[in-house]
Amino acid sequence: MREMKDFPVAAAMRQWGTNNETEGAIVSGDAPIKNWGGSYPEDFSNAEALNGDNVIKYQEKRYGCRHCPAPCGGHCKVPDGPYAMEGHKPEYETVSVFGNNLLNDNLESIFKANELCNQYGIDTISVGATIGFAMDCYEKGIISKADTDGIELTWGNHQAIVQMTEKICKGEGFGEVLSNGSKIAAEKIGGGSEEYAIQIGGQELPMHDGKLYPGLATQYQYNSTPGRHTQACEDWGRIGIHREDRKFTDYAGRGKDHLVYAAHRTIVDCEGLCYYSTYYYNAPDITEYMTAVTGWDYTMDNCTLDGERVMTLRSLFNLREGINPREWKLPGRSIGEPALKAGPLKGVTLDMETMAKDFYDVLGWDINTSVPSRESLERLGLDEVYDKFGGL
Ligand code: SF4
Repeated sequence: MREMKDFPVAAAMRQWGTNNETEGAIVSGDAPIKNWGGSYPEDFSNAEALNGDNVIKYQEKRYGCRHCPAPCGGHCKVPDGPYAMEGHKPEYETVSVFGNNLLNDNLESIFKANELCNQYGIDTISVGATIGFAMDCYEKGIISKADTDGIELTWGNHQAIVQMTEKICKGEGFGEVLSNGSKIAAEKIGGGSEEYAIQIGGQELPMHDGKLYPGLATQYQYNSTPGRHTQACEDWGRIGIHREDRKFTDYAGRGKDHLVYAAHRTIVDCEGLCYYSTYYYNAPDITEYMTAVTGWDYTMDNCTLDGERVMTLRSLFNLREGINPREWKLPGRSIGEPALKAGPLKGVTLDMETMAKDFYDVLGWDINTSVPSRESLERLGLDEVYDKFGGL
């Protein structure tokens, strides 16, 4: 436990929680700006307003999960004003999606929106991103004040953001239109609004841009629970596969690394460990935990194979239900179609097909149907599954 405490990320998590990364993410281009259509600093320059130091000014007491070496949570209080609240510290995703994503540098409004979502049990990424979708529709004239119950859904309007968050939570008025997320809202609103719904499979994308970390875009589309940033990104390192010589714009040859990373994260999930715990140990340590618990001589190769087995089973479940991720497409803005005209990600367009083909080749899945080959299922010891679902 003492060794885990010594990892640099653990120290940063103890001090700021996940907001240790907010300012850096905005400046680097990782954090989307203006519903993925803008850039730093041209559209949003006040990254400092949302940084960890400013967030923890409101923190009264730190807390964490039992025995965690890097407790990341905090009880916070905004003592007075229109956004007075007492509750939990918003984490990175929340600050970013209600902040830079909406051109909002009013931190107290983000605390309020976060607390509303917590009280109503609603995901902050989905709510903030759906308000971003609505703000784009408002700017483009697809909706107006007549639709939004008189609320001016203009970029950076923090009063409107909090009001609309409350309406979504309560399913009131225009909040009801937005309450099932941007995909369903776009179907109701029409008028070309689907272009501004930054989602895949009905799940809004989180606050990490695949144009900076291409492995994320692969995961957003091909993970069995799409739009997810917590299961793979070979660009993020930590398990010894990050290649210093690979540029972010090198799209070929990523398949194997993507699989190893995704499989490792899958095993972390199966173990019930915190996602962040993987930043407090060296990846091979996970094999020691598994050996200690199971008595098996567990290796990183076991980890990759078992993780792939779980990933494949989850994918087969989706296929049985008629879900083939090859029939989806990530929203244009999220993959640089068209490319941004300014900022750190200026000119970047992802080569999604090259990354998909590499990944599917390594998995042994058909590039059109996503159905695993019999050989790949035999390799994973899942040939019985093939027999059962042979008609896929
Ligand atoms: S276990 Fe994870 S979520 Fe819990 S306090 Fe530690 S880092 Fe935070």
